[in-house]
Amino acid sequence: MNQLANQVAVVTGAGRGIGQAIALKLAAAGADIACVDLKLEFCEETVQKAQALGRKAWAFAANVSEAASVTTAVEQILAATGKVDILVNNAGITKDGLLMRMSEADWDAVLDINLKGTFLFTKAFSRSFLKQQSGRIVNIASVIGIMGNAGQCNYGASKAGVIGFTKSVARELASRGITVNAIAPGFIETAMTAKISPEAREALLKQIPLGTLGQPDDVADAVLFLASPAARYITGQVLPVDGGMAM
Ligand code: NAP
Repeated sequence: MNQLANQVAVVTGAGRGIGQAIALKLAAAGADIACVDLKLEFCEETVQKAQALGRKAWAFAANVSEAASVTTAVEQILAATGKVDILVNNAGITKDGLLMRMSEADWDAVLDINLKGTFLFTKAFSRSFLKQQSGRIVNIASVIGIMGNAGQCNYGASKAGVIGFTKSVARELASRGITVNAIAPGFIETAMTAKISPEAREALLKQIPLGTLGQPDDVADAVLFLASPAARYITGQVLPVDGGMAM
């Protein structure tokens, strides 16, 4: 069913992992896709796969943490697509370390990309969402922003920030027909979690009631729901997709 027919979705960090799964899920539901990643060529595979689904798809380069880069990319996106209906703020990084060993640079990098990047893209598209009196914003937070995790104080702070940002902006934009929600994935099999040692993975699985890591598609299905007409009366919410970790 093409529930997103004639809609345009922007996905940041769409080159691989969860972002690619989200872009292709929205494309399969009928949306045309603007893929954003650090370099144009990182989006090539996602763009080709979305086009193979019969959609229009474009690649854009931006560093989500740099205001000038975001402004340029957003202008290019709106010029190419004509309008945007759905924004998924997915780009994110980890730079793990215990508090006492965490450098200021690692703190800043994670906060700048995960939290400031979400702010910059949301602000940039809000102008056109306000004008058209509609829009769906889905921010990819993390279960770590709810539960915390030793060795991830920068990441946990950035994702808790994304949750607070989501709720505040949802209140600001609700009267204009714009919804803003977040998804809090647990541990999902991507490059980000591939670095986990076998021992840590064993320990991790014990914390997940459903007993397995999640797949990028599990997150993408939740994004599709929040972007679809079925979620029209939902805003300011955080939907965990975590196998029950954070209940
Ligand atoms: P991933 O495989 O590392 O992919 C992240 C994507 O974001 C990559 O395409 C990356 O580009 C892009 N990116 C990084 N920094 C960027 C920047 N400054 N500007 C533009 N794009 C940038 O990670 P993932 O596992 O799919 O994670 C996606 C999102 O889900 C992140 O926000 C992450 O925090 C969140 N999340 C993941 C998990 C998990 O278990 N995997 C759990 C909870 C939440 P490059 O290819 O250039 O690096």
